[in-house]
Amino acid sequence: MRFCEKCGNLLVVEKKRKNIYLVCRKCKRVYKTKGEKLRIGSAITEGKKKIIVMTEKDQFAELPKTKIICPKCENMEAYWWMQQTRSTDEPPTMFYRCTKCGYSWRSYG
Ligand SMILES: [Zn+2]
Ligand SMILES: [Zn+2]
Repeated sequence: MRFCEKCGNLLVVEKKRKNIYLVCRKCKRVYKTKGEKLRIGSAITEGKKKIIVMTEKDQFAELPKTKIICPKCENMEAYWWMQQTRSTDEPPTMFYRCTKCGYSWRSYG
């Protein structure tokens, strides 16, 4: 499981010809994979491209959970992870993802 170095969003797996890339859906940044073994789940088609994604269940099952209120659906539990988004002398940003509706948000706390 990998996160975008720029915005901290979760990366999805995209297959182009024989190469597999990790793509950030938010800022469209593309990361090359160095022969990493990727766990690939379902294949979906977006436009003309065939995109293979890891199942969200697999990705988020590895994350710790915490009790926090989702701003969207008021569910009381969310997955969380930390990501260094800007310069290294700034504290890392906390990200949350609701276990119920899948809404993601960040905290600068
Ligand atoms: Zn990004
Ligand atoms: Zn929610």
